[in-house]
Amino acid sequence: MMRDSCRAFVDDVVLPFIKHNWQREWSMTPEDRLPASILEGAEQIGIRTLGVPEEFGGIELDRTSEVQTFAIISEEIARGDSGLADKLVQNWKVAVLLRNLAPRHLQEKWFKRLLEEPQFLLAHCLTEPRGASDRWLPYNVPEAAMQTRAVKDGKHWVINGRKQFISNGYDAGLYVVYANTNPKVGMMQGTSSFLVPRDTQGLTVARCNETLGCRFMNNGELVFEDMRVPEDHLLVENEALGKAAVYFRPGKIIQASKNLGVGVRAFEVASEYVQNYVQGGRILLKHQAVALRIADMATKVEAVRALLARAARAVDENAPDADALCNMVKLFASEEIMKVAQHAVELHGGNGMMLDFGVEKLLRDAAIFLHMDATTDISRLKIVKSMFPDTAGKYAGPE
Ligand SMILES: Cc1cc2nc3c(=O)[nH]c(=O)nc-3n(C[C@H](O)[C@H](O)[C@H](O)COP(=O)(O)OP(=O)(O)OC[C@H]3O[C@@H](n4cnc5c(N)ncnc54)[C@H](O)[C@@H]3O)c2cc1C
Repeated sequence: MMRDSCRAFVDDVVLPFIKHNWQREWSMTPEDRLPASILEGAEQIGIRTLGVPEEFGGIELDRTSEVQTFAIISEEIARGDSGLADKLVQNWKVAVLLRNLAPRHLQEKWFKRLLEEPQFLLAHCLTEPRGASDRWLPYNVPEAAMQTRAVKDGKHWVINGRKQFISNGYDAGLYVVYANTNPKVGMMQGTSSFLVPRDTQGLTVARCNETLGCRFMNNGELVFEDMRVPEDHLLVENEALGKAAVYFRPGKIIQASKNLGVGVRAFEVASEYVQNYVQGGRILLKHQAVALRIADMATKVEAVRALLARAARAVDENAPDADALCNMVKLFASEEIMKVAQHAVELHGGNGMMLDFGVEKLLRDAAIFLHMDATTDISRLKIVKSMFPDTAGKYAGPE
């Protein structure tokens, strides 16, 4: 039922909007790119505030298949636009984190705001100018720790530093920020997480990054200068990275499923084109080289879908191989769907390179997935580390 209502929303609202307003993603005024009505539409079909517990007014999914449901919905939304899907899934992922880690009175306060304001967004801030790969691995020594520092001062924490490449960073109302609280130990023992409302003094949204794809999600950069947050806004002290598995595992599944949505759309537009566009007196599909590419695209899409279903179930069941599987599917989807999108633009010939034709957007959107939630190389290293924890290398620094 949810797949159907998401599909109808995408077919009736999102795809026509993108088709008739293809210039909008290139507006250099980030707030003007996506009209408010699109997030209001997401609200109407009940997918904007997934992850918020029912007792706070949210729509709660069956926890035994929650991640599998997230996967279905994010695939469908990304089939329409993966930037829009990015905007929404950050809300779900951070809501899951808050319901697990935030004190009750802060859950009451922020879930209420999220429910009341259709444009309200959440963001999750880990990456810094000194890199993110060390944190994904993680390379657990003091010299690789976060540069953003939090120091306790009476009943407040004082945070200094900066974060970059943050999804929804430009327009979120509430941020989860990770900072070093013990420089003498590795990041698994010395990183804490905090809730930071947008209007906190000392927080500056420094810029909106102009990304290659997923442009309807406004990716931003944040600076913290003597930013004071009350002590109850501490989510996890020192062991925040380990406790964030409730965010990271569904996160990888959602990345892969958004990525699948881009692939499904690339396959749809390519199959439509090759069955209508005529060259050499025949529709393209009758040319065998074209047929082979279509078969290749369909096979890749189905292979990603199959691995995704297995990995999402493993996360829902907290299976021992869930960690390896969710990294595998995130990695596999990013590389396979990139090839699917490449076939799609190549099958469109010159039209595939024209902005107003709309197919090149799928290639740009697909390219983003190679870099989100860890690079492909780091994902490979994580897979090996989770399969062979005792013998795999540290991959950085001394043995
Ligand atoms: C669209 C988008 C949205 C994002 N959203 C968020 C978000 O919401 N929150 C957030 O915190 N971050 C976010 N990120 C950041 C993302 O997680 C990082 O860009 C990614 O993890 C790579 O980190 P980096 O850019 O610092 O690259 P670096 O870590 O500087 O890596 C550069 C290159 O070196 C390689 N490398 C680095 N270290 C090693 C090593 N030890 N061994 C082998 N190879 C290595 C990498 O594979 C890569 O090829 C987002 C990024 C993008 C593009």
